[in-house]
Amino acid sequence: MKTYKIACIPGDGIGKEVVPAGQQVLEALAATQNSFEFKFTSFDWGGDYYRKHGVMMPEKGLDDLRDKDAILFGSAGDPHIPDHITLWGLRLKICQGFDQYANVRPTRILPGIDAPLKRCKPEDLNWVIVRENSEGEYSGVGGRVHQGQPIEVATDLSILTRAGVERIMRFAFRLAQSRPRKLLTVVTKSNAQRHAMVMWDEIALQISKEFPDVTWDKELVDACTARMVNRPASLDTVVATNLHADVLSDLAAALAGSLGIAPTANIDPERRYPSMFEPIHGSAFDIMGKDLANPVGTFWSCVMMLEHLGENAASQRLMQVIEQITADPSLHTGDLGGSATTAQVTQAVCERISGTQETVRRAA
Ligand code: NAD
Ligand code: MN
Repeated sequence: MKTYKIACIPGDGIGKEVVPAGQQVLEALAATQNSFEFKFTSFDWGGDYYRKHGVMMPEKGLDDLRDKDAILFGSAGDPHIPDHITLWGLRLKICQGFDQYANVRPTRILPGIDAPLKRCKPEDLNWVIVRENSEGEYSGVGGRVHQGQPIEVATDLSILTRAGVERIMRFAFRLAQSRPRKLLTVVTKSNAQRHAMVMWDEIALQISKEFPDVTWDKELVDACTARMVNRPASLDTVVATNLHADVLSDLAAALAGSLGIAPTANIDPERRYPSMFEPIHGSAFDIMGKDLANPVGTFWSCVMMLEHLGENAASQRLMQVIEQITADPSLHTGDLGGSATTAQVTQAVCERISGTQETVRRAA
């Protein structure tokens, strides 16, 4: 029996609701078979920890995560602490500390979801957005001087390195190659940003030669937003810089029905460190603590975690159950126009996994 060591970091807001829900679902899956089990360790890092200790996580916190097989993360963001402190003090500290340079964001319209584009059929929208996750606009380089003075200066420097761009392009081409359509769109802004983005384009062309069976094109980021809405079927795998992909993937999630459904994986493809799995949404201050959060984004992130661990059968089983759940409108949370609670959706998923649903029906 294999034992996977999983770190759970609920963080803030609805992260505290959806991460325990994800853990319950993983426990239910493990209980259906005897080839693997999970050993969970929870960490109380986040806004509350910051109020007690003045930091979002301990200085040497990464050492507590280093030996784990994966990390399940909720959200960083507290209504009473500035967002740049919560994000950099926790989520980005882990992503950068463990060089999780590939952020993978699949988007599909799941069964039963009423997506907002009226001409878009579910089969037209099946994307994976690959976000460069280690540099670019979020490299953290910059500063402020003369604060409050009329001569105040503030900079956020976007940095692209050849090594960083080559590795994310290679990752994206390889992912595109593994999907049926073998189609990659490289998002750029090299008309206005004439240095780093030009290098980005050049490296895309260079890496494309290693993947002659992948069809690829280039799209400016602003045009790409329109293309996502007007010609969704023309896209399959998409690669973009940290900021561009951040924005595009929220749009993608909304086009697929809700931010509450969308998953993401922060991957270290070389497997030197644990990778981290999380819903793409944040703390959702407006609904936190009310049992209203949609846990599906977290469950789908668990699917990605299982796949990363090589547990493909369990991963496919969980995805199947998620699709059965979304197909049933009585199990839709508020973001999908329904009135189900986080607990009800979680229980329904667990029951289906363990087969109690079927047993009850057969007995009746
Ligand atoms: P948000 O994702 O928290 O919320 C945006 C809207 O979507 C809200 O109306 C919210 O209620 C709704 N929503 C989000 N997830 C939902 C779910 N699972 N079920 C139902 N509805 C859901 O984004 P925001 O308001 O921009 O950010 C709030 C805080 O979260 C900020 O502090 C921000 O920095 C942080 N944040 C953190 C992460 C992260 O840690 N990965 C990501 C995004 C935002
Ligand atoms: Mn985002």
